[in-house]
Amino acid sequence: MGQAFDICIRGAGVVGRTAALLLARAGLRVALVAPPVPSGQADVRAYALNAASRGLLESVRAWPDAQHATAVRRMQVWAEAGGAVEFDAVAERVPALAWVVDVPALEQRLQDAIGFQPLVERVAQPVPAPLAVVCEGRASRTRAEWGVEFDLTPYAQDAIATRLQCEHAHGAVARQWFAADGGILAFLPLDGEGGNSVAVVWSVAHGQSQHWLQADEAGLAAALREASRGALGALTVTAPRAAWPLVQARARRWCGAVAGVPGQSWVLAGDAAHAVHPLAGQGLNLGLADAAALAQVLGGREGWRALSDQRLLRRYERARKTEVATAMLAMDGLQQLFTRGDAALKPLRAHGMNAFDRLVPLKGWVSRHAMGVA
Ligand SMILES: Cc1cc2nc3c(=O)[nH]c(=O)nc-3n(C[C@H](O)[C@H](O)[C@H](O)COP(=O)(O)OP(=O)(O)OC[C@H]3O[C@@H](n4cnc5c(N)ncnc54)[C@H](O)[C@@H]3O)c2cc1C
Repeated sequence: MGQAFDICIRGAGVVGRTAALLLARAGLRVALVAPPVPSGQADVRAYALNAASRGLLESVRAWPDAQHATAVRRMQVWAEAGGAVEFDAVAERVPALAWVVDVPALEQRLQDAIGFQPLVERVAQPVPAPLAVVCEGRASRTRAEWGVEFDLTPYAQDAIATRLQCEHAHGAVARQWFAADGGILAFLPLDGEGGNSVAVVWSVAHGQSQHWLQADEAGLAAALREASRGALGALTVTAPRAAWPLVQARARRWCGAVAGVPGQSWVLAGDAAHAVHPLAGQGLNLGLADAAALAQVLGGREGWRALSDQRLLRRYERARKTEVATAMLAMDGLQQLFTRGDAALKPLRAHGMNAFDRLVPLKGWVSRHAMGVA
């Protein structure tokens, strides 16, 4: 008897769910391993997603409404000693530089879309299939069980996420501040273009994160107001806080055969394959691009080629590894440049940022890459 499924996707995060919809659209029967009861508290984060991710999510009817996907018209970045860079959608001739997407709203849209896709079935446990797509996030158990090496470099920072109500409207601007002590604070606009609330990602040294997780709300709001140089006026904390240890990581192999099970192979996608610092908001954009590339490779395979064929799966690995390696290099370089306490670097950082701000072609190139439209 033939198998009931072509693909078993392990992990129903945003990458796993998107991959399920894309692979089903390519005519494949997909089992999506997801716990029956969604775990605990809603995610307080909001993701900055680029135009490529938006196009992909729209194509599977999972893009949230405008209230939950706020367009970013400008991005402003400041360092100490007067360094500043600004990106503008008008200058880049694009409708928006990115969209800040409310995570629970995105998850719900994906869930609804899956409900309308008869080729995707939710299962509680992994099922046999010619191909397992592992989307279990950076701490993937399956990746470890199957002996795939994951080179992980921890940063000396945690990212704290929460949300704020602000005195002043955000004006559809995403703002980021690099502080002298290595802290990186981002305010991402929420609740539509006229909104007054922001999603916060504050990367701070390990030693400080416990303090800010436990601080009273007024104390946290005052610290964030100071770190943001009062840009949005008085701030009120409106959501619980959560923290993530920051790492850079990548799997050495992205595909292989399941040992001892003939005819079954695996691939990795999303954070199970790579993790980057969130300072440029690229992690999920990379993961969604993995899902798109995988669907393209599998959907376009020669009719005689099995889904478990290693040559086929290596096409996917090759297509994604180089782009991910480039993004990791850029993210790590920025993180190192701005978090090293070296006093000699301060004026260099400010000068470099200001010079970069005036270099229109280079700025355009960087922003097109970040927007996923290069
Ligand atoms: C603070 C912060 C801010 C960020 N901001 C941005 C941003 O602005 N833009 C951006 O592009 N990226 C951002 N990222 C990165 C983004 O969060 C990740 O890249 C993205 O969540 C990866 O999605 P994923 O589906 O691969 O993994 P996850 O989101 O980790 O999902 C994995 C899923 O698999 C499930 N799972 C795990 N193990 C198993 C198992 N054994 N069996 C079955 N299921 C399992 C988990 O429950 C989960 O549902 C940010 C990250 C952080 C920490």
